[in-house]
Amino acid sequence: MRIGAIEAGGTKIICGIGNEHGVIEKKINFPTESPDIVFPKIREFFEGEQIDALGVGTFGPIDVNRNSETYGYITSTPKPGWGNVDFVGQLKQYIHVPIGFDTDVNGAALGEALWGSAKGLNSCVYYTIGTGVGVGVYTEGKLVHGLLHPEAGHIPVRRHPEDSYEGFCPYHGDCLEGVAAGPAIERRFGVKGHELGKDHEAWKLEAYYLGQALMSTILLLSPERIILGGGVMHQEQLFPLIREEVKRNLNGYVQHSMILEHIDQYIIPPGLGDNAGLSGAIALGLLEYNANK
Ligand code: ADP
Ligand code: ZN
Repeated sequence: MRIGAIEAGGTKIICGIGNEHGVIEKKINFPTESPDIVFPKIREFFEGEQIDALGVGTFGPIDVNRNSETYGYITSTPKPGWGNVDFVGQLKQYIHVPIGFDTDVNGAALGEALWGSAKGLNSCVYYTIGTGVGVGVYTEGKLVHGLLHPEAGHIPVRRHPEDSYEGFCPYHGDCLEGVAAGPAIERRFGVKGHELGKDHEAWKLEAYYLGQALMSTILLLSPERIILGGGVMHQEQLFPLIREEVKRNLNGYVQHSMILEHIDQYIIPPGLGDNAGLSGAIALGLLEYNANK
């Protein structure tokens, strides 16, 4: 089986082809310029390719309600040129196979549940901490949509008493994304995250905020795994700091061995590594293929 995949991120778009085991055969990437530049490049990549299904995992917010007139659209994004764009409609003009469409992080959660760090489990939550913070939710064997789709990157967090940075979220200021995404680190300390030393105070602060968010996630959804990906999580020293913060916040309330004894196997990096997004898009294509069989 050959499954096409598109991972549309805020800074770059990755197109690829893989199989029903999530193995990637080929891929390319290009910057997320305006739709009139991006869509012809996507078309060129898939031209002449025989595929059985296509999966699209994209930044949002998006419309995933199949009964809606704007199903398949990127909706209210502040990203210039990308508001109200009919993503699936553009593809349908020349791709005549089932097209799965979801958030990049819902895709990544599904991919991780099929082939990665949450393989064989019925639930997981996938966080990306990059230019923004996105959260995908897979529970009882299904991706969560509800009203539109989870947007847990924007949950409130308590500010650290010594953090005077006001946060960059245009909607909420100091929501999780506003204080913990890559740009917050850069604006707070004046240099990009990858230029800071492994023992810089930035990482304790990062863990302070993510620890709160993960506590809320555990209390609300009770996922069997929490997977943390995205550029900022390349700082591997964050994992033990975050796990400690989660335990400190929960304070013994959730009595489960995965938290009390094995938290190092509970809050973990993506098993699919930097391919989590693209493999996730393949997973969305596979899901749609199976739904149309
Ligand atoms: P995107 O969110 O656009 O999909 P990334 O997940 O790579 O892309 O996130 C980019 C953000 O992550 C930037 O703010 C960047 O500074 C930050 N980042 C990327 N790599 C690292 C790193 N090794 N250490 C810390 N921050 C990083
Ligand atoms: Zn926000």
